Amino acid sequence: MTLPRRRFVEQAATLAALPFVDRWLGGGLGSGLPRDIDPLLDAAPLRADGAWVNAALARFDAIGRTASGINRVAYSEGDLAGRAFTLDLYRAAGLTPRIDAAGNIIARVAGSDPRLPAIVIGSHVDSVTDGGNYDGPVGTFGAIGAARALQAQGVRLRHPLDVVCWQNEEGGTIGSKLAIGAPVDLDGVARSGKTIREGITLTGGDPSRLAEAVRPRGSVACYLELHIEQGGNLDRSGTPIGVVLGIVGLKWFEVTIDGFANHAGATPMDQRQDAMLAAAKFTIAVNEAIRLEPGRQVATVGRVVALPNTRNVIAGQVQLTVDLRDLDAAKVARFAARFQQIGREIGAATNTTFTFREATSSEPAMADPRVMGWIEASAGALGLGTQRMPSGAGHDAQEMAHLCPMGMIFVPSVGGISHSPKEFSRPQDIANGVDVLLNTVMGADRALDA
Ligand SMILES: [Zn+2]
Repeated sequence: MTLPRRRFVEQAATLAALPFVDRWLGGGLGSGLPRDIDPLLDAAPLRADGAWVNAALARFDAIGRTASGINRVAYSEGDLAGRAFTLDLYRAAGLTPRIDAAGNIIARVAGSDPRLPAIVIGSHVDSVTDGGNYDGPVGTFGAIGAARALQAQGVRLRHPLDVVCWQNEEGGTIGSKLAIGAPVDLDGVARSGKTIREGITLTGGDPSRLAEAVRPRGSVACYLELHIEQGGNLDRSGTPIGVVLGIVGLKWFEVTIDGFANHAGATPMDQRQDAMLAAAKFTIAVNEAIRLEPGRQVATVGRVVALPNTRNVIAGQVQLTVDLRDLDAAKVARFAARFQQIGREIGAATNTTFTFREATSSEPAMADPRVMGWIEASAGALGLGTQRMPSGAGHDAQEMAHLCPMGMIFVPSVGGISHSPKEFSRPQDIANGVDVLLNTVMGADRALDA
């Protein structure tokens, strides 16, 4: 009874996903079968060995583990041990990893048509200080697990498949930046105390040959990354799969508010130039402005330094930071202008002066709508619900989006917690994510360069 029932469930799930499947195969059918039959034959989902991926994650938990959390900060002992473990995992999966000049780990599985550009899948294994075991490794081991499943089931893709573990994601997506030829300050000092240049050597790369690690335009068919959500949307709604719309763009401002430092006892309330009061009003006004408009835009005043920061002196100067993010670059620009207008208004009302300095600006990196469709079709065929969402956190995928169509698959983070030793994703959710990655690779392989 078990087998027929399971097959029925799978078929029902496949049928439910038909509109997506049909779209993904649209135009690419060569069999001559009617379109409403062919997707059923083509779309029976593959399954990866989720238990294998979860067992690897469980063993990985011991590496870089300290009393305060996982410490595999890029180029540290923990990171290098994590990379050694990862290299072994590639080999255990039947893959042949190499290290490129930038220190990224790459294994290629040949496709049937060597002229085609590669489908690239992967993530990272470095962590933040006192982080968890899931941010990065889930997608890296998931990619290895997907490639292993293709080999185990004798499936040969048309495209070459590159399984990548990017170096130093948490320190500024360094490995993927180098892979797209984006500028990187090699003398910049990473959290481990090593320079990026030293880190590249430590990870087995060669800083004098970085050009060799750059992926030429047109050499990558698409990039897919499985990752934990890091927020709580999927966990709250009980949705197993998140389909990333894109990675938000951000602007960071350093705001200096100049008032006048004076005696807290002797200065009447109506004669003050209180930079602290202006900062408080500004913090509230930024929060109110960003919430007034519907959407998922976020803004945060996260750091405040008052001068002289003394009990009995009116603050003469306050420095604060604003972090502003959204998927829509125009909206980010509009709110940036609005915050500066708010600064002028509050400055006038409090007899202070606001000066804005833009410290960082990055454009949103949008996922490719076709890739999103393949992810949704794959999840549908597997009977898994999906939810579209922006990624508020940065990922290597944002760099790869400059080079090729990009898509990201999110799985739930319990409690929405990440960058913490409490970070946790359930084994079943991870297994689901690997299955969706595997079938999305299949969908991309079928549809791209058809
Ligand atoms: Zn990550």
